[in-house]
Amino acid sequence: MNNKKGNVSFPARLLKPIGRFLEEEIRKLTRTKKSVESGDPFLDIDRDKQNSVEAEVDEQVGRLHSEVKSKFINRQIVQMKRALSRVRKGNYGICEVCGKMIDTDRLAIKPDATVCVKCEKAKE
Ligand SMILES: [Zn+2]
Repeated sequence: MNNKKGNVSFPARLLKPIGRFLEEEIRKLTRTKKSVESGDPFLDIDRDKQNSVEAEVDEQVGRLHSEVKSKFINRQIVQMKRALSRVRKGNYGICEVCGKMIDTDRLAIKPDATVCVKCEKAKE
């Protein structure tokens, strides 16, 4: 399964499903982003706290929360798009730093990974 000594290229037969997966993720994230930005429906649960200081604080926190969420989603979208363009260019699964193949186990967990575990750790 792992082809550590082999040539540096991701198995072509895996690229298609990965590309489709990434496209689907981008679609989902875009939808989530829209719903986050149009106001979080969960924020209206505590109706009885209205007009209190607590409600105001909740509202502020809620807004901040949506902002953080939306930023996070944006980052995810950028990552996914980057991975997708790498699928198309044919350099998907290759570490951006050292040029070695990224472990397929890692890609299974994090399909948008652009650096290998070693380089990721070195960055920290
Ligand atoms: Zn690397």
